[in-house]
Amino acid sequence: MNAEIIAIGDELTSGQRLDTNSQWLSQRLGEMGIRVLYHTTVGDDIEANTRVFANAFQRADLIICTGGLGPTDDDLTRLALSRACGEPLETREEALEHIRRIFRKYSRDMPDRNKRQAEFPQGAQMIPNPHGTAPGVDLIIPRDGQLEGGQSPDGQSEGGESRIFALPGVPAEMREMWEQTVRQRIQDGFALASRAIRHRRLKCFGVGESHLEQMLPDMIKRGRVPAVGITVSQATITLRVTAEDASEDACWEAMTPTLQTIRERLGDLVFGEEDEELEHAVASLLAQSDQVLATAEWGTGGLIAHWMSEACRGSQHYVGGAVLRNEQAVGALLGVAAEHWAEHGSHSAELAALLAEKVRDSYGADIGLAVAAIPPAPPRADAPPRVAIALATADETTTKLIPYSGHPDILLTRTAKQALNQVRLLLLKQRAVR
Ligand code: AMP
Ligand code: MG
Repeated sequence: MNAEIIAIGDELTSGQRLDTNSQWLSQRLGEMGIRVLYHTTVGDDIEANTRVFANAFQRADLIICTGGLGPTDDDLTRLALSRACGEPLETREEALEHIRRIFRKYSRDMPDRNKRQAEFPQGAQMIPNPHGTAPGVDLIIPRDGQLEGGQSPDGQSEGGESRIFALPGVPAEMREMWEQTVRQRIQDGFALASRAIRHRRLKCFGVGESHLEQMLPDMIKRGRVPAVGITVSQATITLRVTAEDASEDACWEAMTPTLQTIRERLGDLVFGEEDEELEHAVASLLAQSDQVLATAEWGTGGLIAHWMSEACRGSQHYVGGAVLRNEQAVGALLGVAAEHWAEHGSHSAELAALLAEKVRDSYGADIGLAVAAIPPAPPRADAPPRVAIALATADETTTKLIPYSGHPDILLTRTAKQALNQVRLLLLKQRAVR
C-alpha cells in the first residue's frame, strides 16, 4: 500500500507559504506504517487540479489532500474531485445545516457562496469539521488501471480502488479533523496490520560528511535494514536510523545494535541525539562537572553567547561573555592599548589566549573560551585565513588554529560551532581522567 499527499494553493506554488501540511501528514502516516510515495503541490487551477487527482487515483491507494475547500472562486477541490472521478456534485442538507450553525454561532449572515461548501461528489462521505465551515470529503474511487506507464510501483493499480480524504488547508482544522475522524477511518478502511516506522537521529560534529561516511562503509547503503541516512545542515551532520516493524518497541529493538555500532565507530564525533545541538552537549557536560564557562567572541557575532544562554536557561554554568567587533573593543577588554597586543598579531593564537584568560578571570569562570575569526585585511597569499581558538582553565591555556574558509553563509556558524566543540572535547577529556 502506498499514499500520496496533495497540497493545493497558489500561495504554496508561488513560494509565499511553506507547505507544512504535507510534512505533518507524512509524519502521521509514517507512524501508522504507511509509505508515502508522492508529494504533489498544485496551484488553484481547475484543469491542473483535475489532472493531479486523476493521476493520484491511479497510482496511490490512499490520498490525503489539503486546501481549496473554502467558499471562494479559487477554491476548486470539490469541483476538481467531481470531474476527476466522474461523479456530479450534490448538496448535502446535513453539511448545509452545519455551515449555517457555524455562522449563527458568530452571529453572522451566511453569504450565498458558502453553500458551495455543502457540495459533495455523489457517493462521498462527509468529514466533520467542528471549528470551521468546510466539511471534508471522503471518497472511494474504483480504479480503471488505464494510467500511462501501467501499474503503480507496488503493483496494486490494476483494478482495486483508491480512497481520498480532502481536508481544509488551515493547519489547525486539518489536524483536528485528522485526529477526530480520518486516522480511524484509515485504520478501519485499510484493515492495517499493525506496522510502525520510527526514526532516531544521531548528531555529529568534527569531520566532513564524506569522511564520516567512510567511517561507516557498510552502513549508509540503499536497502540496508535498518536504514541509515546522512544529512548535513550548518556543518552539523545528522545520521538518521529508520526501522520499520510490527510495533514501536520492535522498531527500537531493531535499531539498537546499529546505533551502538555507529557510536563505537564514531566515538567523540557523536555529540547528541534528536534535536540536541552542540551547546546542549556542552551545557550538560558543564553541569556534570559543575564548571562555569565564559566567552570572548571576535568575529562570530555573539553566536556562542546566544546558544549557550539558551542552553543554560535554568542554570549558571554559562555566565556570559564579550562580543567584540573591532580592535578598540579588544583593547578595551584586555585593558591595554592596541600597540601592546598588536605585536602578537591581531588574530593570532597568542591574542586568543589572552582573551580566553581575560574572560575566565573577569567573569569568575572555570573555563574561558575565546575565538578570533577575523581574517587579515588585505588577504595575504602566504597566510591563508585562520581562526584562532583558545581555552583557558585554571591549569593551562591551549590554543588551536583552524582554517577559515567555506561558504560565507555558514562560515560564522561553523566557526562558532568549531569553538564550542573545543569546549566539549576539553570537558570530555577532563571527564576521562577523573
Ligand atoms: P484553503 O483551505 O486553501 O482556503 O487555505 C486556507 C489557509 O490554510 C490559507 O491561509 C493557506 O495559506 C493555509 N494553507 C493551505 N494549504 C496549506 C499547507 N499545505 N500548509 C500550510 N498552510 C496551508
Ligand atoms: Mg486556497
